[in-house]
Amino acid sequence: MLTDELPLPDIAVKTCHPMDSSRVLLGLLMLSEQAVETQDAALESETLDNVVSKGVFRSLFSALHFRDVSTVRHARRVAMLSVGMAQHLGWDGRQLKVLEVAALLHDIGKLGVPDSILYKPGSLSPDETELMALHCGIGIDVLQACRVDQGVLEMIAQSNTHFSANRQLSRRLGNTLNQGARILAIADAYDSLATDQVYREAKPHVEIMSILMDSAGSQFDGNIVSAMARWMEQSGVPFQPDTEMNIAPRNSTRLSEELEASSLCHIFSYLYLLERLYDGFYLINSDGRFVVWNGGAQELFGYDAQELLQQRWADGALAYRDKYDEEKPIDQLPLASVVRTGRPQTSQMKVQQKDGGWLFVELQTVPIVDHQGELKGVAEIFRDIERGGRRSGEYRELKLAASRDALTNVANRGELETQLAVALAEYSKHPKADPFSVIFLDVDHFKSVNDTHGHAVGDQVLIGMAKLLQHEMYSGELVARYGGEEFVVICPDTPMSQALSRAERLRLAVANAKLSEVDDLKVTSSFGVTVVEPGDSVESILRRADKALYLSKENGRNQTTSLTNEQFNTDVVPEKKSEPTDNRCVTESFLACIAADMIVYKLGGFVQGQKAKLLDVNDNCARFRIGKRRLLSRFTSKRRPVDVKITFGDSSQSKRGRPLVQVDVEIRPVGRVGAEKFQLNAREALKSLKSYFAAEKCES
Ligand code: GH3
Ligand code: MG
Ligand code: MG
Repeated sequence: MLTDELPLPDIAVKTCHPMDSSRVLLGLLMLSEQAVETQDAALESETLDNVVSKGVFRSLFSALHFRDVSTVRHARRVAMLSVGMAQHLGWDGRQLKVLEVAALLHDIGKLGVPDSILYKPGSLSPDETELMALHCGIGIDVLQACRVDQGVLEMIAQSNTHFSANRQLSRRLGNTLNQGARILAIADAYDSLATDQVYREAKPHVEIMSILMDSAGSQFDGNIVSAMARWMEQSGVPFQPDTEMNIAPRNSTRLSEELEASSLCHIFSYLYLLERLYDGFYLINSDGRFVVWNGGAQELFGYDAQELLQQRWADGALAYRDKYDEEKPIDQLPLASVVRTGRPQTSQMKVQQKDGGWLFVELQTVPIVDHQGELKGVAEIFRDIERGGRRSGEYRELKLAASRDALTNVANRGELETQLAVALAEYSKHPKADPFSVIFLDVDHFKSVNDTHGHAVGDQVLIGMAKLLQHEMYSGELVARYGGEEFVVICPDTPMSQALSRAERLRLAVANAKLSEVDDLKVTSSFGVTVVEPGDSVESILRRADKALYLSKENGRNQTTSLTNEQFNTDVVPEKKSEPTDNRCVTESFLACIAADMIVYKLGGFVQGQKAKLLDVNDNCARFRIGKRRLLSRFTSKRRPVDVKITFGDSSQSKRGRPLVQVDVEIRPVGRVGAEKFQLNAREALKSLKSYFAAEKCES
């Protein structure tokens, strides 16, 4: 194994005060220089097949060891699995080395993750997950500076689910997953399932394989999962999952080594700050070449890292104008003057984007000076002025807050609909690609959980449910809370059969989970599954999944039903009749201020005003339905339809001589609807009825 060949690091990145930005960036430039030297000298012996400089690799890997031993163990097991699997698939030579290095460094971004998150007991919240994704990006920045082979960067970026789930970031490295990334993703998932996590226990091999098979999709290539199964059948699991790999304890940890590691951690933390507070940045070395071009800069200006890295800045890759739109020659640009004066500078400039447009930015130009006062490089840090002066971190947080459900922290209904619309647009662009599926689920008899254990426990169940759903999903799925105790999962690149087995896996996991502090409280859920079809809209696909769910409820709950569009339309499974599902019924009587002979006209006005549907009228009785049909109304408004029956009784007179009529109202739900929702709708209907008839409460 690679790490065995490489003894302790001997090249120290100079240590520095944690947040002295120039010094931190100097550390990064020195790493970069070290990599460049070994490469330029074509010192084969100093690089691993030119994939990465040995010195740089050693520094990074031992910093990771210093920071978090369990991440190192994980990385080594993932490397063993990836390489074994790849060899089984016929890989060899340099390609194999690229994969091995990618596997060993795939979690390098964790160097800068704050302790509170790195060692958090329990699963990560979506915000923390987002932060993890940021760290993957930072890992890539650093590896970029270290001139690590492009193939390694691609594999790491594409294999990482946190990272790839983040659309913006994954665009940075192209859309098609490469084979190495797929292998790496599977090895990564295998190992994390095979080892105890704070949140769940290690799973046995057979179960892991079935989970990976179920999750086959965009991240997990089914063919590779099968290949892995065959390989392991032949040669066994390459390590004992629960016995930790032996990494000799560093009994003689040298101070210099610790300092180096801690200064690498500072580099990561500082980059994190840069990524969060600004919109983009790049770094130029003492030769005037780009050595880091971060994801933000790519977003702002449209150039890929590959287009600019190692190019000379002075060759004019980027064109600048001042704020009066005057083109600026190179020697009058902030960077040139910072090089002359050695002092940092802030300016407002326009920078040309790849597509020709000009972007107005605030530009901070920071000289990077070494201990002897020699200029080693320059960083340029951007803020997009037109974005209203809002820092990107702030922007991201606002965006996040608007898309999350407050209780469970998973995506909310708005975000679900947005993402479904995106998925539908993708689908209509590439109808030949694998379709996506939608799983709709609803906790069974949840009302009784609230009634028996209280709302707080009910809330715990919902939170636990959201966590469980997120934890059981491995393939880039989006988990959203649709409302109340209803959740929806979007599964990209997933045909019906697979979505069905994934839903079944979830169903069993829910039934066996402990979701709240109440030990013996078990809940079940009913599931509906459907797959996108041509002509679908956000509404139609949700409606179909919901109907499938409804059928699961009808058939006794705790089960999964799937529906294709054809089944849905031809009523292969008949929809439930519109009779009330139970005896729930709201009744009330009041006195209407109206003459008996005006009642019919007045009622007509009410029915029209409410867009209600008249069902039945006779002498002293009328029935009508308020609210649209069940399946439609579910997705257009919160209101569920109710059937209202009004019976007119005796006429009388008020004390002031106004005509009064006794009205008896009976309201029933239409179709399946939660008791609480129904009560709400019924009370609403009653309220409008009473205010329309200027009711005085019936005394009797
Ligand atoms: P079914 O098996 O038919 O789905 O029955 P159910 O009891 O789960 O369904 P129903 O729709 O009758 O009840 C849903 C309940 O969910 C009613 C409502 O009070 C509760 N609920 C909705 N949102 C929350 C929440 O945020 N927290 C808690 N604790 N309860 C909630
Ligand atoms: Mg329910
Ligand atoms: Mg419900």
